Parts: sequence; structure tokens; C-alpha cells
Amino acid sequence: MSEFTMTIDGKGVAGAASFGVVNPATGRVFAQAPECSKAQLDDAMEAAQQAFRAWRRDEEKRRQTLRECASALKARAGELAKVLTQEQGKPLARATEEIFGGAVWLEVTAGLQIPIDVLQDNEQGRIEVRRKPYGVVGAITPWNFPLLLAIWKIAPALLAGNTVVLKPSPFTPLTTLKLGEILRDVVPAGVMNIVSGGDELGAWISSHPTVRKVSFTGSVATGKKIAIAAAPDLKRVTLELGGNDAAIVLADVSPKQVAEKLFWGAFSNSGQICSAIKRLYVHEDIYQPIVEELTTIAKSVKMGDGLDPQTQLGPINNKPQLERVVELVDDARKAGAKILTGGQRRQGEGYFYEPTLVTGISDGTRLVDEEQFGPALPILTFRNAEDAIERANATHFGLSGSVWTRDVERGKALASQLECGTGWVNQHLAIVPFAPFGGSKWSGIGYENGPYGLAAFTELQVLNTAKG
Ligand code: NAD
Repeated sequence: MSEFTMTIDGKGVAGAASFGVVNPATGRVFAQAPECSKAQLDDAMEAAQQAFRAWRRDEEKRRQTLRECASALKARAGELAKVLTQEQGKPLARATEEIFGGAVWLEVTAGLQIPIDVLQDNEQGRIEVRRKPYGVVGAITPWNFPLLLAIWKIAPALLAGNTVVLKPSPFTPLTTLKLGEILRDVVPAGVMNIVSGGDELGAWISSHPTVRKVSFTGSVATGKKIAIAAAPDLKRVTLELGGNDAAIVLADVSPKQVAEKLFWGAFSNSGQICSAIKRLYVHEDIYQPIVEELTTIAKSVKMGDGLDPQTQLGPINNKPQLERVVELVDDARKAGAKILTGGQRRQGEGYFYEPTLVTGISDGTRLVDEEQFGPALPILTFRNAEDAIERANATHFGLSGSVWTRDVERGKALASQLECGTGWVNQHLAIVPFAPFGGSKWSGIGYENGPYGLAAFTELQVLNTAKG
């Protein structure tokens, strides 16, 4: 039997069957995860529905519970981080940051208020707008930041008074299952249920009649399926989907100063971040020095097993994703692009792909137009900043983007023209727990984090009281 169990109605539950989880650093199965049956999912939904009645009543208790969750997470961070590195591939130091990041998100969310707006209060009457929970939230997460992205959903959903049934990606179920196990003693039974299984389990959740809201993070293709699955029942949805972020580097920057930030903006987590830099547009006057700086960094980075303390970049998380990166870089190569570094899978075990910089490439090539979600960065040139903005916007994606310049006001003016949820100036990937995060266009519907993210787990009720 698997040492990892699901959490249903406050109890550890083995799966009806199990499936293997691969360590991407070796390419071999290292643990088994439970496979949730339809009947077990029904049990989790029933438990969440029952628990909702009491959980919705006491806001202060919910706040306190989130704080206790943060403490429990910190107390077991070492154990969680090791599991995360083994199933996801990221370096242990980054995995540890992800766990502590989860604790920070819980604490910040616990401090948010659920406002009551008073629209009228006079001799005729009082009109208040209150925010009420939906009921049972179905939450579905991807494999790049399994723990943190689960908490982005669990924390605000629970604070608002909802109960949750959450399913992690089949590539990375273990840290989330462990989270469930750790929080079983902290969160009342039925309030937070963690189930694991394949994609079909996600489809069962998004069409389950008990679910009132689906909160999803993952690809655009799956996001569209979820929107369709939610429609017959008019379930509310929040969709945090893919991105193809452009970073636009103006001619006035110091290449030495920005190169490191640009590199890690693109290659952190081996490029497997929704809002990583995925297309780099550099002014032609500084194109050469920027490319040289980036090449030096790419060649010096240490790639390896995340459990090795020297490792800066881990493997790609899974085989299909590795094959996708191989395909996109090969396509660019065939189109005549120049591969400056990497451009190939590392020989030996595991899903390692060398950090890859690609020049001599234009818009219209798949590596530029599609989301690569891996360690391969196309670097393009521009002459005119307005033209670069137009090229950055010529896409269905709209998650985030950045402008790099010494002229901060110009940077802000240009970033505000980007058609995306977050515009950064002189930084990328600066995501904080109190600011809303979400995408325009195909990159999503709705927002997570901070007061806006909390509001997304509530619906309004107007309380209109006559006086006199
Ligand atoms: P994915 O869409 O393949 O899978 C995400 C989750 O959805 C998994 O748990 C999966 O099992 C489940 N799923 C698959 N098919 C389903 C269906 N028909 N119905 C319901 N659930 C289903 O995505 P992925 O490959 O795990 O993650 C990578 C993608 O996620 C990238 O596109 C990335 O940009 C995006 N992402 C977005 C954000 C954001 O906040 N915008 C954050 C991280 C990742």
C-alpha cells in the first residue's frame, strides 16, 4: 500500500487503486499515489457539503485555523520539501521556499477582511452588501508549484467559509497528499478534502453536482474543457491558465545589470512557470551584449538532481513536457534559428534539457508563438518600442509581461499598454500574496490572491432592511 493517503472527511483513505509517481531526475517511479474512485469522490463531496454547514458560521475560527495551518506547514517543511523535490524536480532550496511561501500565503490570507459595504443607512432603511461563501469548491492544480498553488486556492476558499475538494496533478500528487495528512489535525473533518488520480478525476470534479465553484490552474486547453463542464450547472469558475510572457528590453539598460534578472525571469523552475519570460524582445542597439551576458550565465548554471545542494536547475517535470520542449526547439532549428546554448536533452537518466538560448528567430515560429513551458528562450530584436509592444500583444495569451529601462516613467507607460494581467517594470515574476494575479484573454478568467482573490470565493448578498 502507498504511504500516501487521501484526506476524506478528516481521515486518511487509501485509493481504490494506485498509480506510480516518477522522479524526473531519474525517470523512475519512486512512490505510489492513491487513485480516487468515483464513489470515493462522492464521499469527499458529501463530507465537504456536510462540513459547510458549521464551517461557514465562525469567521474568527476560520482565521485562526489558517494561522494554525501555516504553523503546521512550517513545522514539517523539511519533510514536505524533500517530497516536492523528488516528485517535481526543483532544487531542494527552491522546494523549501515553496513550502515557506505557502505558509506566508496562509498568514497573509488569514489577515484579510471580508468586508460589509453599507450603501445606505438612514431613516428609510439600511442597505448592506455582504459576501457569502459558495459552498463546496472543487480545486484542481498543475505540476509546476503543486504546494503553493494549492494554498492559493485553499486559503481564501476556507477563509471565505467554503469547504474544498482538491485534486493535484497526477505528475505531482504527493506533496499535496502530505499537506492533507499534516492538516488533518488542524482543519475540521470534511472542510478540506484532498483526492488524487488522473485527468478524468479532474473532469469528475468539474462536473460534480455538489460543486458550486471550480478554481483551476493549468493549461488553456484544460481550462476551456472546465468552462464547458461547468456551464450546464452554471458553476462559477476561476481559471488561471497558460502564458507567453514577453519581456521588452529598451536600449538604455545596462546589460550586465539586467542579464541575471532576465535569465532567472525565464529559467527559474526550469522555465516551468506560467508567468516566466517566454519571449525576450531586445532593442537592436544592445542585442549583442545582452545575448553575450545571457550566454555566459546559461553556460555557468549547474543542472542536476534537485537533492544535490549544488543544483540550480532541475529537470523538466515529465516526459510529455520534455518532448514538447524538444519539439519546439527542433522546429526553430529547422526554421533556421541559431541555438546558442543547449538545444538538446542531456544524455543519461532523467528528463534533463540544457538551458537553451535561441536567436535568429522571428515571430510566427512555434517557439515564439506557443507556450514552451521549459528551459528554452527565444531572443528577438526590435527597433521601435511601440512596435515591440504590438508584437508582444499579438497573441491569445495575456498573463503578464515586463518592460526594462532606466526611464521608469516610460517603462510604466509602455507596460500599461501590454494586454495582460500584470505589467512589470524592471522585474519579472515579482508575485506577492496581497496583489491580484490573473490573466487577460486566454490566460484566464478571474483573479487569485489578496482581497480580489478572496472576493472570488464569495458571492454578494444585499441585505435591505426597512426602518420605521
Ligand atoms: P494541465 O491543464 O494539463 O493539468 C492541470 C490539472 O488539470 C491537472 O491536475 C490535471 O490532472 C487536470 N485535468 C486535466 N484534464 C482535465 C479535465 N478535462 N478536467 C478537469 N481537470 C483536468 O496543465 P499542467 O500541464 O499540469 O500545467 C501546466 C500549465 O499550467 C501551463 O500552461 C501553465 O502556464 C499553466 N499554469 C498557469 C498558472 C497561472 O496561475 N495562470 C500557474 C501555473 C501553471
